[in-house]
Amino acid sequence: MSTQYQVINPATEEIVTTIEHFDVAHTDAAIDRAAKAFESWRNVAPGDRARLLRAFASKVSEHREELANLEIANSGHTRGNALWEADNVANVLNYYSATPERLFGRQIPVPGGVDFTFKEPLGVIGIIVPWNFPMPIAGWGFGPALAAGNTVVLKPAELTPLTAIRLGELALEAGLPKDVFQVLPGKGSIVGERFVTHPAVRKIVFTGSTEVGKHIMVGCADQVKRLTLELGGKSANVIFADADLEKAAAAAPGSVFDNAGQDCCARSRILVQRSVFDRFMSLFETSVKAFRVEDPNLESSEMGPLISAKQFEAVSSYLGSNVAFSGSKPEGKGYWMAPTVVTPKDTSDRAWREEIFGPIVAVLPFEDEADAIRLANDSEYGLSGSIWTRDVGRAFRVARGIDTGNLSVNSHSSVRFWTPFGGFKQSGLGRELGPDAPDAFTEVKNIFIATTE
Ligand code: NAP
Ligand code: MG
Repeated sequence: MSTQYQVINPATEEIVTTIEHFDVAHTDAAIDRAAKAFESWRNVAPGDRARLLRAFASKVSEHREELANLEIANSGHTRGNALWEADNVANVLNYYSATPERLFGRQIPVPGGVDFTFKEPLGVIGIIVPWNFPMPIAGWGFGPALAAGNTVVLKPAELTPLTAIRLGELALEAGLPKDVFQVLPGKGSIVGERFVTHPAVRKIVFTGSTEVGKHIMVGCADQVKRLTLELGGKSANVIFADADLEKAAAAAPGSVFDNAGQDCCARSRILVQRSVFDRFMSLFETSVKAFRVEDPNLESSEMGPLISAKQFEAVSSYLGSNVAFSGSKPEGKGYWMAPTVVTPKDTSDRAWREEIFGPIVAVLPFEDEADAIRLANDSEYGLSGSIWTRDVGRAFRVARGIDTGNLSVNSHSSVRFWTPFGGFKQSGLGRELGPDAPDAFTEVKNIFIATTE
């Protein structure tokens, strides 16, 4: 583990700390320990596994301020977001602590005997996390995976390892047996690749770019390895003329500029019915200019910096003559970008088609319901989206018409741990969260017992 990695604060460009990266040999050793730990973890009594997960949740809650401060320093997340993210880990652990005692199989009527199904854990789960939401995305994987009786090796993104490392320590402090949940900081091309090729890792949970997701999918085919993918998005925020326009305009900045737009659920395409386009744009300009981009440590901060110089360069490439208006940003060090609204000339514009993953939103008009659905679906992505209307019938028609995994009406909420989350088309494969998530970490085993003499 000789490689040293410097963790940078994106708001100040200062070095936060230096950590050690795992190499292949250390990754293999960790996977072997996880495979060994699985043999006992799977046999821990359901009530005891539940109690340990609740103890882990309590530890996370006790350390929410510390975790939030780490995320602010490492990722530039606003204080409000960082606290929500730490709480989300605790909430997810508490929610799935109900799983071990309720992982029911079925009894199926058959002739000649009795038939049962069991939900068996898979073994070692490899979780690969991106840098945009280090804590929640980790928890959505390890919460249900551990609850279903698996052990976990988790690779945080190179850029944002600090909260994951701390969560690994807190799991031990809470009493989880050693090697049940291990955090392995390192490069995707080394640690992440090894999760894919190591035969003891039975499933990969990957969140990140569609490009790397496809590469991992190909790699998993070799061992028919189970796989969940949460990839990119280019979600539509569809605003009808009959909507509460003031409310829609006030909510739109948060739906795309939250986390500086580095959110797979960002509503980065706004579709506005033509008859109210100008009125919406004028209200939207006011709300964008009022959006507070400032030191993420401040409680009032609504948006921090981009994660890295590289991300800043990539996002900047979408800015040109198409800018309608923009908000503000602090001067000085850090990867700061003002929230920006662009009006593409048509739907072929790359700012309209590509996932920007930064604080840029593209706006276009539409004519009618059918046009709105067609434009919203004109994307290889399908992760989330929003519909603003006062007509409940229209809300349902349009929601059923848009090919996307998570829609909200008169709201921008996508992620609730009680409900399933995931994408259509190239936005992903499988679902996380919600009541069924533990099923994705089990195999169904069928057992028949003959009762005939
Ligand atoms: P990425 O390369 O897909 O990284 C995501 C995770 O995969 C990281 O932990 C990364 O490790 C790891 N990884 C990279 N190559 C790997 C490989 N060959 N095998 C196994 N794991 C591998 O994403 P990125 O480069 O950070 O971001 C690029 C773009 O992806 C963004 O601009 C955005 O458009 C999109 N993205 C989407 C999401 C999302 O939530 N859907 C999240 C992040 C990024 P390293 O950190 O070491 O590279
Ligand atoms: Mg990458």
